[in-house]
Amino acid sequence: MSQGQQYEFKTEIKQLLDIITHSLYTSREIFLRELVSNASDALDKLRFEQTRSTTLANPDLELHIAITIDEDKHQLQIKDTGIGMTQEELVKNIGTIAHSGSAEFIRQAMADQANSSNIIGRFGVGFYSVFMVADKVTIQTRSFNPDAKAVEWSSDGQGSYTISELDSDLPRGTTIIVQLKEDAKEFAEKKRITSIIKKYSNFISFPILVQDEKANTVSALWRENKFSITPEQYSEFYKFLTYDHEEPLDTVHLSVDAPVQFSALAFIPPRSADTFGFDRENYGLDLYVRRVLIQDKNKDLIPEYLGFMRGVVDTEDLPLNISRETLQENILIRKIASTLTKQILTHLKKLGQDKDRYGKFWAEHAKRFKLGYVDFANQESFGELLRFNSSRHENKDELISLDEYIETAKEGQKEIYYISGPSREAIEQNPHLEIFRAKGLEVLYLYEPVDEFVMDSLRTFKEFDLKATENADIASLEQFADTATPKDKPAQLSAEEGEDLERFLKRIQDILGERITEARISKRLSESPSCLVSPDGSTSQMHKIMQLVTKDVSIPKKIFEINQDHPLIRNLLAVFSKNEQDDFVTTIVEQLYESALLMDGYLADPHKMVNRLNSLMAEASTWYKNKQEK
Ligand code: ADP
Repeated sequence: MSQGQQYEFKTEIKQLLDIITHSLYTSREIFLRELVSNASDALDKLRFEQTRSTTLANPDLELHIAITIDEDKHQLQIKDTGIGMTQEELVKNIGTIAHSGSAEFIRQAMADQANSSNIIGRFGVGFYSVFMVADKVTIQTRSFNPDAKAVEWSSDGQGSYTISELDSDLPRGTTIIVQLKEDAKEFAEKKRITSIIKKYSNFISFPILVQDEKANTVSALWRENKFSITPEQYSEFYKFLTYDHEEPLDTVHLSVDAPVQFSALAFIPPRSADTFGFDRENYGLDLYVRRVLIQDKNKDLIPEYLGFMRGVVDTEDLPLNISRETLQENILIRKIASTLTKQILTHLKKLGQDKDRYGKFWAEHAKRFKLGYVDFANQESFGELLRFNSSRHENKDELISLDEYIETAKEGQKEIYYISGPSREAIEQNPHLEIFRAKGLEVLYLYEPVDEFVMDSLRTFKEFDLKATENADIASLEQFADTATPKDKPAQLSAEEGEDLERFLKRIQDILGERITEARISKRLSESPSCLVSPDGSTSQMHKIMQLVTKDVSIPKKIFEINQDHPLIRNLLAVFSKNEQDDFVTTIVEQLYESALLMDGYLADPHKMVNRLNSLMAEASTWYKNKQEK
């Protein structure tokens, strides 16, 4: 070996080394990711030279990365058969900080000395990160150029390095010899090294051998042509990625060139990972830059409502050593996310044609998907993907889309009607549904609080307004002919009875006083004697959600409607006509009002109601007993 020549590091590298060697780090393992990425880049470059049919040194050398460990000497060697470096290149490449990532790292670390240990984990600082674990590093390298001489670079990372020409006939490529620090012995264990390779470098396209055993066993399927991939390969990859043992419900594989270059391979898992809704924040896609893992579960790549997807995104357009902070603000990531979102929605639309599979998707992932009401940019697609149980169905598990609703809407119908309730049974008892049933108008049944938010923020779908049944304009519903055979209606009220009815409404208003805004005759009821209607456009369900948020326990003031054809109301009217102050009228009106509150979920204290019912039943039983004895 010729006498080595000593050089001083440039100031910026001194700064970098100072930070790297004098801080405590939590993620020292990334040094290996950086060295392996460099090796892989060098192999890529060599492959490129091969295609240009340049004359190469050692043309038959296999392209791979070989890691050898000497546990006793605390030594690690990373050897590649890539492009190598000449002495000149060695000085230029290793002696300067070319990329912006390192410069940014220094800037931040200098600005925040106290926290520099946190910062390094979030940056890739390239080759020099090896000094986190090494007290001496040697690079032996020989360029692919057949005339080039082998050279050696070596440094303890303190302030200077030496370069010397090597006499020995080194084969093409680069070997990094890492002499591990006393406290970094773990990196001389095969198991540890293999697991780091699997974590960050599993998808490197060249074989990575750890002590002669291939550590990267799965290929970067997302980079391959989708027409050459079998369903089994997709499924195998999915299982590898998620540790799931079931098949994915569906696969989205994309390769996009504009507006940004990226490939994505994402899956719809057959089951929600978040059954109870406690783990909503745990989502994201794994971000790779040229097959190297940059961040797993990156949330900026996909909106929360599509967070059920599992998969990877790989882009050529980002630098490997981008920091997580910069990632968040990165416009490229945002573009990827918006392209990906649109593609996934399109894909779901296709899946929607297969009712069976879409039903499975909906059963598992609808809870999360519905959060998409905030995605205003894709509102129409989002609306098309929604599914609802409705009045046309026989049981709660059947579903239709809004498009299907529209298809069978009545001539002249401009609204899509919905109603909320805790269950199908509860909804079907709701008096607000009666007129829709009579007119044969379909009503969507909403069972979850989030549904109200969905309807509220969509407001319209195609040319239809979304309308809660309780807020529907009854006059406009009357244009539709009755479809259900109306129940036998009692005789029309006489003129005199009509006048009594007016005074009866006033009496109701007196009895209920401040608790209601108005008492009036209902046009919406056909089966129930009475109901409450909100005077503004809000729905009782939404109102209750807001009350939960604001911890408000007050009972809203509503319009009290009575059904003048109901036998109970007719009887009551007759009693009223005889004695306008009759106590029985008061009792029944109170009872009807509280029943309506109970139906709407507002009756907090049932004591009064139960007592009242008990005395009514006592009276009724006396009457019944007497009737029986006759
Ligand atoms: P980066 O890889 O981000 O450019 P590094 O500090 O890791 O920064 O490396 C600096 C440069 O040194 C690389 O760009 C490359 O030109 C050269 N280099 C590093 N490792 C190797 C290698 N194994 N083979 C050939 N060249 C290398």
